[in-house]
Amino acid sequence: MSTEKCDVVIVGAGFAGMYLLHRMRNLGFSTRVFETGSDVGGTWYWNRYPGARCDIESMQYSYSFSEELQQDWNWSEVFSAQPEILEYADHVADRFDLRRDIEFNSTVTAAHYDEASRRWAVTTDKGENVSAQYFVMATGCISAAQLPDFKGLDDYTGATYHTGNWPHDEVDFSGKRVAVIGTGSSGIQAIPVIAEQAGHVTIFQRTPNYSLPAQNSPMSETYAHSWKDDYPALREQMRQTAKGALGEINDILGGEASVEERDAEYERRWAIGGTALLGSFRDMMVSRDTNETAAEFVRDKIRAIVQDPEVADKLVAKDYPIGTKRICVDSGYFETFNRDNVALVDINDTPIETMTPNGIATSAETFEFDAIVFATGFDAMTGTLFKVDIEGRDGARLRDKWDAGPRTYLGLMSDAFPNMFMVTGPGSPSVLTNMIISIEQHVDWISDCLAHMRAEGLDTIAPTLQAQDNWVEHVNKVAHGTLFPLAASWYMGANIAGKPRIFMPYLGGAGGYREICDKVVADGYDGFNFEPRSAQATAAE
Ligand code: NAP
Repeated sequence: MSTEKCDVVIVGAGFAGMYLLHRMRNLGFSTRVFETGSDVGGTWYWNRYPGARCDIESMQYSYSFSEELQQDWNWSEVFSAQPEILEYADHVADRFDLRRDIEFNSTVTAAHYDEASRRWAVTTDKGENVSAQYFVMATGCISAAQLPDFKGLDDYTGATYHTGNWPHDEVDFSGKRVAVIGTGSSGIQAIPVIAEQAGHVTIFQRTPNYSLPAQNSPMSETYAHSWKDDYPALREQMRQTAKGALGEINDILGGEASVEERDAEYERRWAIGGTALLGSFRDMMVSRDTNETAAEFVRDKIRAIVQDPEVADKLVAKDYPIGTKRICVDSGYFETFNRDNVALVDINDTPIETMTPNGIATSAETFEFDAIVFATGFDAMTGTLFKVDIEGRDGARLRDKWDAGPRTYLGLMSDAFPNMFMVTGPGSPSVLTNMIISIEQHVDWISDCLAHMRAEGLDTIAPTLQAQDNWVEHVNKVAHGTLFPLAASWYMGANIAGKPRIFMPYLGGAGGYREICDKVVADGYDGFNFEPRSAQATAAE
């Protein structure tokens, strides 16, 4: 097959790839997008499991780049469910006529940098070859589904599902005996909905999770208007916050409140719903004492909701501070354990030994199931990057260069990979923030950078090793000033056997990070090296 040429290749047509394509087009860069799925939406395309819902309010978890779009679109609930978010992605694709540059059902398998031409040679599983000046991985942070290597898995003859790769056709669990393995955000959202339909559900839990009630409700006209009437100013405020979302964070320390004041505040925020409780005190994620009071408040709530004290005790997280594993937000999760058709198996007490043709055998019991749902998470942040065979300067492979953990400058680029960008890559705030707002910031930064290079006649950009080393050290230092590294979380790579234990996202906050990125530009792209157009590269093209 012949090699096509374009300015930019983007991998992924989720919210990052879609907005980047829109920006690239407006700047006049010829662009191709490759997407494994059959349509747009990224994470919301793949995660179609029952109960899938965003835990950031939709008035905030939505694009801010188009005033017309944010005025025209109406959300039906405060926290939207997956089908509505996917409808929104579909609407954006139509509205901005994005699909004509997106190749669906097409997976990028390799991207190799050619030093002579200073271009990326990109290959897909369809045998397409594209040569591009710029290569952008807009593949999301939580996209590589993880199916643990359970013994006997191939012998199991019933139906299996992974929450992160859910079938498009409706799955009917009516009357079925269902196992759910995993109690992270996905399991916690799916379990109540599956339990309403299934004959019986058995939940296999390895680590109990803290979860807060969404307190979701239909979107009222008044609430929607409180945003729409002032959207540009509110979006600007969001961009300056640590989370990329507005929500009240008290400016006092936990220790400055009396026990009564503290509990009243937790109670108030539990009633507000979502992640509000974590904003009760400004030292929540740095002070063990403050954190423990919030953790204990949530444990008491669980004990009050779950009628069987033994089950309640198993559901209560005791070994790590609240919020250090990604906080979950649920709709009726703990209440589900009061149902007659729901059972909890703590696999620390009775480990899963093997899958059998008809179900699961633990050290204590053999269970029969018609279906097993794996809510077992993702190889987060680096998993999707490593799925592509990425080779940079002098044959450097990304996977090898990051053997001991990801190394980026600002989570945007890595030193041996000129003109390759990551949207919300490791080392940026990404998963700790409102993803859409962080995506927009990265896409805008990359777009401005490409426009700058074109205007200045520059051919390549790559971070200096020094700037990258300093950034990696900074990201680590900030993380280790908090409680986050105390949990065996996917933020730390701890859910994947053999993955280096490095805190991957940047904890400096979306607003602070934006300021750093802006200053880098104001200081002449401090920490980056550019190469001007050379006669050799022109000849090699
Ligand atoms: P996750 O948080 O990594 O949870 C995976 C679950 O599977 C954990 O309970 C884990 O136990 C368990 N598990 C993994 N391997 C296992 C094994 N071999 N045996 C038994 N149990 C095993 O994954 P997730 O629930 O899919 O969520 C991932 C992230 O996606 C979330 O943290 C969030 O950022 C995002 N998400 C967001 C939403 C939302 O907006 N509401 C919804 C879903 C997901 P351990 O804890 O012991 O590892």
